[in-house]
Amino acid sequence: MPIVCPVRGGSRRDAARQRVPIAPASVYAPIGRRRWWWYAYRCLTCGVYQLGRARQLDQVTGQRRAGCGHAVVIMAARIYGAPGAGA
Ligand SMILES: [Zn+2]
Repeated sequence: MPIVCPVRGGSRRDAARQRVPIAPASVYAPIGRRRWWWYAYRCLTCGVYQLGRARQLDQVTGQRRAGCGHAVVIMAARIYGAPGAGA
């Protein structure tokens, strides 16, 4: 049985076809034993709030498909808990 690595490949063809709304997200840095960045954003198409997590801050931002199925571009509007991020 082959081992399949789930790779999140961004389809650039889809990205170029339509203008994707930019969603400002609140991002929470890993604290203590947590290793994940958590982020919350609101889908600009249907207004549903979404939660997500990522290993690195770089993986938080960018285009993705929200849980509701709409494409959004995540922008880290606020970052909480990160040293040196400012207040
Ligand atoms: Zn939506």
